[in-house]
Amino acid sequence: MLGWSINLFRVGGIQLAVHFSFLLLLAVNAFDGYADAGWPGLWWSTAVLAAFFGCVVLHEFGHCLTAIRFGVRVPRILLLPIGGMAEFDGLPREPRREVLITVAGPAVNFVIAGLLWLLLPAPAAVESTGAIPTLTESLHLLMNWNLAMGLFNLLPAFPMDGGRLLRASLATRLPYLRATFWAATCGKVMCVLGVAAALWLGEPLLVVLFVFIFIVGEMEYRAAQRRERDDAHWREVIARRFAAAGTDADRAPPAGP
Ligand SMILES: [Zn+2]
Repeated sequence: MLGWSINLFRVGGIQLAVHFSFLLLLAVNAFDGYADAGWPGLWWSTAVLAAFFGCVVLHEFGHCLTAIRFGVRVPRILLLPIGGMAEFDGLPREPRREVLITVAGPAVNFVIAGLLWLLLPAPAAVESTGAIPTLTESLHLLMNWNLAMGLFNLLPAFPMDGGRLLRASLATRLPYLRATFWAATCGKVMCVLGVAAALWLGEPLLVVLFVFIFIVGEMEYRAAQRRERDDAHWREVIARRFAAAGTDADRAPPAGP
């Protein structure tokens, strides 16, 4: 499902890659810009999209750099038309660490929004002048996007950040897999409500986004289930080995006369 990607470059050992469908978004966005205001419109809309996804990458880097501090390996960040996904190798199952890794993403968006809010003039002072928005208008848009991105990711829709925070808080009282099950179930309910709201609002991209979150949530729950089974398997293997060693010891030839 997430194959077909192009590797861009590496930052701090993390490979940044874009999914092929991202090129489609780039083309549609560029075409929209061109239709609105010719070549300047095309370049401007591409720059705004690049700035938006630059913030998505920074959000993911918030998670990744915090995870790396805890010794987690982060092989890749994949950009999709509906957002970014960081891949982690061996996320800690310790709730406190998961909370810190998780909040670091939205925190980046709130810091960017806060800085833009401090630097930009009040929205009332911004006037729209033509087909191409001014730099200030675009930066205001970027500020609002960052605020929306930070808040949206905090929705308790596992595997989004809010869902991970829910899992971490449940995991303080429940076994890890059980906590994942309830966070994923809550996420699925949120996704169904989200699809209904998006259909009502006439937002097809939001429908796709919630369907995607639903599927990835289920995939991640199944992966957690598999990991739990594998861990149980290994515990059994280790237990057997210890037992075998005991048996061997029992069978050891009696000490010589
Ligand atoms: Zn995030």
